Amino acid sequence: MEQLIASSEAPARVNLLGMSRAQLEAFFLELGEKRFRAQQVMKWIHHQGVTDFALMSNLGKALRERLASVAEVRPPQVESRHDSADGTRKWLIRVEGGGLVETVLIPDGNRATLCVSSQVGCSLDCSFCSTGKQGFQRDLSAAEIIGQLWLAIDSYDAFQAGKGRVVTNVVMMGMGEPLLNFDNVVAAMDLMMDDLAYGISKRRVTLSTSGVVPALDRLAEISEASLAISLHAPNDALRDQLVPVNRRYPIRMLLDSARNYIDAQRDQKRVVTVEYTLMAGVNDQREHALELAQLLRDFPCKINLIPFNPFPNSGYERPSGNAVSRFWQVLVDAGYIVTVRTTRGDDIDAACGQLVGEVVDRTRRAERHRSRNEQAEVTA
Ligand code: SAH
Ligand code: SF4
Repeated sequence: MEQLIASSEAPARVNLLGMSRAQLEAFFLELGEKRFRAQQVMKWIHHQGVTDFALMSNLGKALRERLASVAEVRPPQVESRHDSADGTRKWLIRVEGGGLVETVLIPDGNRATLCVSSQVGCSLDCSFCSTGKQGFQRDLSAAEIIGQLWLAIDSYDAFQAGKGRVVTNVVMMGMGEPLLNFDNVVAAMDLMMDDLAYGISKRRVTLSTSGVVPALDRLAEISEASLAISLHAPNDALRDQLVPVNRRYPIRMLLDSARNYIDAQRDQKRVVTVEYTLMAGVNDQREHALELAQLLRDFPCKINLIPFNPFPNSGYERPSGNAVSRFWQVLVDAGYIVTVRTTRGDDIDAACGQLVGEVVDRTRRAERHRSRNEQAEVTA
């Protein structure tokens, strides 16, 4: 009872899960402890998956107790987990304040790519994205972002087995626009790449943006992660319709900023991944492919084609396999390296742009569907 009263009156404890190495060092210095404590605690949390300070055996008892009174290691709360027949695993995470976000792990041979969310919803409202249709609710904290990687590893018992590297690649391609949640995304990506945490190589941590140019310019100064840009159209007139942020930062500005980003990298062999979601009759015609080939001439990139993933009342359709192949061929003939993203986790709605959460409140879902129908009528 005494404890209950004490804890209900105590100020909120700080969550150490999302702190980068620099932040954790500052935290320990402020407690009057040595800097190296940060390194010990990071290893417990991110290498061993330990959340209980009492188990951190190389810290003295007094420090463990002190930590337990001012801090905590709190992973995200899993609402449900879904396993696809193809091995794809999806988590629905309940965040504080009531929203839901999704994380998807896609195994592929020796690799496994984790698709991580950065926001609850998204404010940028791309016309073909179900997350965009949801509107923006809030940014995820750094702990909620890195916590997605923590729990993916934990769910395979990989911490206990000492096989923390069950996730080999991370893509910031879940819900939200990562550059609009800049500081938290940067802190989380720092942890992904830090040897004291997950030690994933900078080439295997990818940030995807729809083109928030000023933030991308800032990122160039501080981050070594790989970059993907969501282009989806070969000219501004079409991109303005599909990706509204293009009206503020048009294609030329985005390509210049992306080039500047890779020029700023020490490792000069890097290229930008250009993502292009193909929608039947919208941006998948031969003339679009030719215009795209022309646009990206001299731009250091590889191209990733994503056949549109349908969701109810989207107003768009996925092109046929033949249409995708024809588009692909034009780009290959023009000398580009082009991959087509295969749809994974279809049976659990885990594909790009479908990440909206099944367990949304029914009224809100009905409203969303209504407004989508209205939009579809306007466009029709
Ligand atoms: N906000 C960031 C990252 C999240 S979206 C961005 O837009 O880049 C990850 C990728 O999935 C983006 O390229 C996005 O345009 C694409 N996408 C969104 N909805 C989709 C859909 N319904 N079908 C296929 N790809 C989609
Ligand atoms: Fe946001 Fe990306 Fe979806 Fe556009 S595609 S609405 S930027 S999550």
